[in-house]
Amino acid sequence: MSHYDAIIAGTGPAGASALYQLTQKGLKVLALEKETFPRYKACGGCLSSKTKNFLNLDLSRLIQTEIFQVNFSYNLKEDFAIKAPGPVGHMVNRTLLDNLMVERALKAGGKINFGEKVVSFNVKPEKIEVTTPQTTYTADYLLAAEGAAGIIGSTLNWHKNLTFYPTVTVELEGDFPLIREFPQTAWTDLFPSQGAYGWIFPKGEGVTIGVGKFSPRKKVKLQEIIEQISQFRLNLTPEFKIHPHPIPCLHNFNKFPVKDRVFLLGDAGGLVDAFIGEGIYYAAFSGELAACAIAESKNPKEAEANYIQSLKSKIYPELKAAGWIAAFMRRFPKIAYKLLKDHALMADFYRGVLGGEKSYQEVTDRVKNRLFLDSRLPQWLIKQIRGEKTEKPTV
Ligand SMILES: Cc1cc2nc3c(=O)[nH]c(=O)nc-3n(C[C@H](O)[C@H](O)[C@H](O)COP(=O)(O)OP(=O)(O)OC[C@H]3O[C@@H](n4cnc5c(N)ncnc54)[C@H](O)[C@@H]3O)c2cc1C
Repeated sequence: MSHYDAIIAGTGPAGASALYQLTQKGLKVLALEKETFPRYKACGGCLSSKTKNFLNLDLSRLIQTEIFQVNFSYNLKEDFAIKAPGPVGHMVNRTLLDNLMVERALKAGGKINFGEKVVSFNVKPEKIEVTTPQTTYTADYLLAAEGAAGIIGSTLNWHKNLTFYPTVTVELEGDFPLIREFPQTAWTDLFPSQGAYGWIFPKGEGVTIGVGKFSPRKKVKLQEIIEQISQFRLNLTPEFKIHPHPIPCLHNFNKFPVKDRVFLLGDAGGLVDAFIGEGIYYAAFSGELAACAIAESKNPKEAEANYIQSLKSKIYPELKAAGWIAAFMRRFPKIAYKLLKDHALMADFYRGVLGGEKSYQEVTDRVKNRLFLDSRLPQWLIKQIRGEKTEKPTV
């Protein structure tokens, strides 16, 4: 039976980043990936400038379009634009991006068995057994980078701490008048009465269209909304069938995705921004944090504590704040839309967050404490937004 310092399940951005870091630090690591690469992954393919800078890869051949403007609408009406002096979004082909990250890990000496799926694992006092249809391996650590709703997260019962937001996306090739006129603009359409939002990203020779739900419980016909957007914005009667993919967002920030030498990374940990659905950044970042915690600690207890500490200080505050903004948006869509539309400062925050110069925490602190709460809204509403118990007065 082959023994490794660490086994990684999955080589998306989280697993590839962990493999690259651990290999560079001289650990004996094996990554098991159920697909063969390059593989398709449902994604908008939008990298914020924050993500692009963090990945530290030469993306010049991958970037199809750069976004300088984001347009918002409310029920496909009242469009307004947030413009930026530099690019805030970088559109890439996701298949090629993930492949590039895997190639970097392989070039550094990383070992990946493609087409080998982790089907179970067993935590023993001194090692972890990891079983695939081919064989059983042992390792000191298991890193779950298996994406949303994987087998390791479900075995550990971790998924109860996550909210899974169904999302659909489709890539369309073609010459669209909208994209010819606005080649560097992304479109975000809010459909509050239907509990959904949609986006269109220009992508070189075509577009990516997507729709997500504000709340997983709400019955939303995603296919109908994506058709509505395609018809309205692209004058296209689509003939595609779409399948929902979940975006997993952590909602219980008192819990940490690590137990008995099993570390959950990226989507497996629910480390996704609930406001804009950005997950590539947190996947790659958590892969790096877990690798550093393991490589730089004297024993597993210390490694687990260091991973928790890194998540607490470097990832959770932003995800929590993004979750707060998403909840605000769900609850008060019109106010959120108007804030973004009418307050230059909020538009500036939005640009800053995408660019990585500003944090969500700054936004939430500002909104909660100063911006408009003390003046324009009724006290019962201010209390609700602040999370204080109150009831709406009856007339
Ligand atoms: C519709 C949609 C649009 C999105 N758009 C964006 C966007 O524009 N920008 C952005 O930043 N984020 C976006 N996201 C989120 C982003 O795609 C994820 O957060 C990101 O892929 C997480 O990376 P990961 O490495 O954790 O998981 P994944 O990328 O899902 O990788 C998991 C890997 O594990 C493998 N695997 C699974 N199970 C096993 C197993 N048992 N054994 C071995 N291998 C296994 C899979 O084959 C896969 O290769 C979007 C998500 C969705 C659903």
